[in-house]
Amino acid sequence: VVNKMIIASNFKTNHTRKSTREYLIKLNNFISEKSISNIDIMVFPPSVAFDNFKDFNKHIDIGAQNAYHTIRGSFTGDIGKEHLDEFNINSILIGHSERRTIFNETQDLIDLKFKFYSSYGFKIIYCIGEPLEIKEQGIEKTIDYLENQLKSIDLDYKNLIIAYEPIWAIGTGKTATLNDIDEVHTRLKNIIDKPILYGGSVKACNSKDITDIKNVDGLLIGTASWNIDDFCRIIDIVNL
Ligand code: PEP
Repeated sequence: VVNKMIIASNFKTNHTRKSTREYLIKLNNFISEKSISNIDIMVFPPSVAFDNFKDFNKHIDIGAQNAYHTIRGSFTGDIGKEHLDEFNINSILIGHSERRTIFNETQDLIDLKFKFYSSYGFKIIYCIGEPLEIKEQGIEKTIDYLENQLKSIDLDYKNLIIAYEPIWAIGTGKTATLNDIDEVHTRLKNIIDKPILYGGSVKACNSKDITDIKNVDGLLIGTASWNIDDFCRIIDIVNL
């Protein structure tokens, strides 16, 4: 069985509830018109933009960028599973480098989130990636670093998707070379038998070259996905 390609958009702190709805309506129309059936599309809006999209959403898996490992409780400023359930959200990003670096999420906290949301069967996009100083030490050090981020989670979890996102390539306009991506994805595939997405300054002009790499199963895209026309163009190009 050949797995479907996965293309995911991470809105980060962009788009309001209103513009998220407009975006998702356009995206649904685009997928219908182009009869796109061999790519799974995921969108991760900010949680304040969650809504009941059932009236029009037929094609897109909506996920959470982050949530606490609780159903509800006293965790000021955070959301729990109950808030995802209200909108039938069953997908979540865990371990994104911005959570790890800006919000100081430790691997222990990430592990707790993984355990909690996997126990409820969530589809988890688990993000890993090395900083520049590790990349500069070569491929073996890079793989060691990534293995370290993988060792405490259940790699056999059925709804697990990995996103390899070199930190130095996120939001910087610097994409890893095709050789870098090929090498890391091939090494990762020997460790883990799950879909592996690439993320880090993916845009229309490099999307096809990246998805053509054998062990790349899809893309996680930030900046270049926030404009709906740009995101549709990427889907179109990868679909060719
Ligand atoms: C991301 O946030 O997962 C990401 C890959 O961002 P960008 O595409 O902007 O590098």
